[in-house]
Amino acid sequence: MKELCVELGEKPFRAKQIFSWLYKGIQDIDEMKNLPSGFLARLKEHAEVGMLRVLAHQQSAQDGTEKYLFELEDGNAVESVLMVYDYGNTVCVSTQAGCRMGCSFCASGLNGLVRDLTAGEIVSQILDIARNSLVRVSHVVFMGTGEPFDNYENISKAIGILTDHEGLGMSMRNITVSTCGIVPGIRKFGDDFPQVNLAISLHASNDDRRREIMPVAKRWSIKDLMVACDEYTDKTNRRVTFEYALIAGENDSDKDMKELAGLLRGHLSHVNLIPLNEVSETGMKSAGRARAKEFKSYLESHGVPASVRRELGSDIDGACGQLRNKVATAPGE
Ligand code: SF4
Repeated sequence: MKELCVELGEKPFRAKQIFSWLYKGIQDIDEMKNLPSGFLARLKEHAEVGMLRVLAHQQSAQDGTEKYLFELEDGNAVESVLMVYDYGNTVCVSTQAGCRMGCSFCASGLNGLVRDLTAGEIVSQILDIARNSLVRVSHVVFMGTGEPFDNYENISKAIGILTDHEGLGMSMRNITVSTCGIVPGIRKFGDDFPQVNLAISLHASNDDRRREIMPVAKRWSIKDLMVACDEYTDKTNRRVTFEYALIAGENDSDKDMKELAGLLRGHLSHVNLIPLNEVSETGMKSAGRARAKEFKSYLESHGVPASVRRELGSDIDGACGQLRNKVATAPGE
């Protein structure tokens, strides 16, 4: 931006002013009030305020969760979700169009990876939701389509913009990045962002089962993962959240429950139990909320903190990737 300002005959400090205007949520270059009009005219010839086009929008009648399908400039589409919690409004962003991790329970990875999102496209999901839904977004989770550590450079840049006081000024502690278990990414993340929360999609308590549902487990074992998580907690003093989606007949047996408790006991961790958001394409069924509660009681009685995640947006296409697949394959599209 500084280079562009100089190219257009202005001082580099104008870049800071532009940056600050962008994240105030302006929609047009003319709204940058403290910049000279001649410069704004030149700027408009070379740049525009990038916004995503809303292709579809659903709102849950049950809990107010809103799901957006955004179109990117090249025609690809990504999903983002706005969730309303007591502690604030949370946006779940996508980091890639598609995903190459191939988890068997997930609709996002069904057609593989299309491309990485830019930092701008990641941040725009938050700005455009705030603008369209007229809300203040206080929390961001990187849990939508894509594996964040497979697009490390751009998610780092996006976190930088979200937390910069001239950007969105968010607290690092209000941001969570979720990985399916890319071990070198976990190590780098602990060094680069010790105050940002880390979540691991675990979903199985032994390697055989995990390899069946998550191909990434063929590359890094649960032991590798736990070593990296312990290093992370030593470095950051922060607990790791382990996501565990309960899938009927896959990972919900008493044996799984006992193994999970044994695996996590003694580690600085928290288990987030998720009754699976069913996706018709995968044929997998949720083990149900009652089973999730049994897991929670067992884990807690064995010294492992756990909670059951609220099922948000179950009356809309709640599972990530569903809305994108549906719109992309709708007749006439
Ligand atoms: S669960 Fe996450 S990492 Fe796995 S395929 Fe889906 S988007 Fe990719």
